[in-house]
Amino acid sequence: MSWYNVRMEKIVIQLEEWYLKNKRDLPFRKNRDPYSVWVSEIMAQQTRIETMLPYFERWMAKWPTITDLAVADIQEVLKMWEGLGYYNRARNLHKAAIYLYENNEGVFYDSYEKILTLPGIGPYTAAAIASIVYDEKVPAIDGNVCRVVARLDALAEEISSSTAQRHIETRMKSWIIESTPHLFTQAMMELGALVCTPQSPDCAHCPLQDTCVAFRERTMADYPIKKTKAPVPIESYDCFILKNSEGKIALTQQNDDNLMNGYYRFPIKNQLERTMISDIRKIGAQKHVFSHKVWMTEYYIGKADFQDDSILWVNESELNELPMISAHRKFYQKLGPIQ
Ligand code: SF4
Repeated sequence: MSWYNVRMEKIVIQLEEWYLKNKRDLPFRKNRDPYSVWVSEIMAQQTRIETMLPYFERWMAKWPTITDLAVADIQEVLKMWEGLGYYNRARNLHKAAIYLYENNEGVFYDSYEKILTLPGIGPYTAAAIASIVYDEKVPAIDGNVCRVVARLDALAEEISSSTAQRHIETRMKSWIIESTPHLFTQAMMELGALVCTPQSPDCAHCPLQDTCVAFRERTMADYPIKKTKAPVPIESYDCFILKNSEGKIALTQQNDDNLMNGYYRFPIKNQLERTMISDIRKIGAQKHVFSHKVWMTEYYIGKADFQDDSILWVNESELNELPMISAHRKFYQKLGPIQ
C-alpha cells in the first residue's frame, strides 16, 4: 500500500475513534433525526454552539416536527430567532418547512441532491445532513474543515482560491469514501471546534498529530493562508424612541438591511423628517458590531403624536412580544422606564 493510502486510512480511523471517545453530548446528536440535524446545522452557522443551544432547545420544544413549524406564524418564528442574527436563516427554515409540508407530507428529503433544492440550504448544509443522517458519502466542507485540511497538508494556496478549494474537496472526497460518513463528518466538525481551533490549536491532544505536515514543521499558525480583510464599513444613525400622548412607543419595520426584514426597530432620523417631536433629549449611544458592518447609534427620546403607515404604536407588552432587532432591544432593556 502506498504512503498516501496508509496516511488516508490512518486519518479516517484515528479521527473516528477519537470522535467516539471525545464527542460532546449535544441534544441534536441523541438521534439522527433529519429535522433536528437540519435545525441544528442552520442555527450553528456563524454561531457558537453554546449560544445556539438554548435556542435549539426552545425551538424543538415549540415546533417538534416539520409540520408544527410549517403551520407556525412567521412573526413567532422571527421572535424565537431574535438575538441569533442572520435572520434569513429563520425565514428560510420556515419557508422550507412549508414547502415540505405542502409537497412531501411534512417529511424531510433523504438525499443530498434533493436536500440542496430547499430554501436556505447550500452545499455544506446539504452534505452535512445527508452524511450525518443518511450516511451518504458527500463531504461537508466549511471553514473548520478547510482549516484542518490546510494544516494537515500545509496547503500553500490562499484558502478561498479555486486551487485550494479543489485540493480540499479532493482530499475530503477520498477520505469520506473510506469512512462511516455520519462519524467522519461530525468528527471533522468536532476536531475543528475543539482541537484544531483558529488560534492556538491543541496539537498535543490531536488524533492526527502524526500525519499533520504543519505540526511536523511547527508552522500551524501559518495555515490557512488568508487574504487580508478589508475594513468593515461603519454606519452612523440617530435613532428615536418616541412616546405619544397615550404612552405608546413608535416602532417601524423599515430596515436598511434586507437581512433584518420582518424585525421591528425604533425609527431613525430620515424617517421622521416631517414629524414634530417635542422634549427631545439624547440618552445614550451604542456600538453594535455585525460581521459585515458596524452600527454607531445615538439614541434620543422625545414626544410625538402622528399617524404614518410605516409606524406602529405599541404599548410595553406588545413591544416585548414583537420580534425586534437585537441592537435596539438591548439598548431599550438597559434604559428603564421612559418618562
Ligand atoms: Fe491541527 Fe495541530 Fe492537529 Fe495539525 S496536529 S490537525 S495543526 S490540531
